[in-house]
Amino acid sequence: MEVIILGSGVYSGIPKPLCNCENCSRARKFHLYRRTRFSIYIPKIRALIDPSPDLHYHLEHLNEKIEHVFITHAHFDHMGGLPELQIFKQIKLYGHVITLEVARDMQKRFVGESKWDWEYFPLEFNKWHDFGFKVYHFKVAHQPIEVAGGFIIRIRNKKIVITGDTGPEILDDKKTLKEMKSANLLVADMTHRHSIPNVHLGIDDAIKLAQKVRAKKTVFAHISHTNYTHEELEERVKPYLVARDFMHVNI
Ligand SMILES: [Zn+2]
Ligand SMILES: [Zn+2]
Ligand SMILES: [Zn+2]
Repeated sequence: MEVIILGSGVYSGIPKPLCNCENCSRARKFHLYRRTRFSIYIPKIRALIDPSPDLHYHLEHLNEKIEHVFITHAHFDHMGGLPELQIFKQIKLYGHVITLEVARDMQKRFVGESKWDWEYFPLEFNKWHDFGFKVYHFKVAHQPIEVAGGFIIRIRNKKIVITGDTGPEILDDKKTLKEMKSANLLVADMTHRHSIPNVHLGIDDAIKLAQKVRAKKTVFAHISHTNYTHEELEERVKPYLVARDFMHVNI
């Protein structure tokens, strides 16, 4: 099975406009260092995780149908591209009830309702839900937003874990860690060099999470321009992987 990381970057993307740091300067010169805003696609069930503000660019390249949309939280870098989904008349959206309220409001304001058969499926935290595939939505600490969560998606015998944006408190969430155990793929937040309590994971804590989950493959994503360069990150997190835009991961 394949999982595609569409966007590997943080809210400002790389290059961030007007920033001349090493990462942003390199990304302007060489496009392989660009990082668009975070998003993932699972071809097997035609599922998109987080409609990034770069969704139009992602869809141009992906050129595939989307049927299921999972939203981790209502920060603009994770759902600002939701109106781009208007090319799909029928989709199913999943997330916490508060997150889905924002999505529904965006549909109303930017897309319309009468011709679009979009269905909303609020997911209770810390419970498995069955839609043909199985999904578990877990709560994470990600201030100042009220509700944010990650997903564990089970498709037949494959388990995919996506933390979304999370603070290092996830390392103490025994119940969620137990559910994540031995996943086929872990995609985890590694925004900055150092963790910010209740907001984002840094390098050391991202590695600690990977060591606890023991997934067959681990990819660190949602990377800020303030983090190390791609090559240096690769060195620091070995044997784990560092996401790139449009990276295909076989699981
Ligand atoms: Zn984010
Ligand atoms: Zn920069
Ligand atoms: Zn966020």
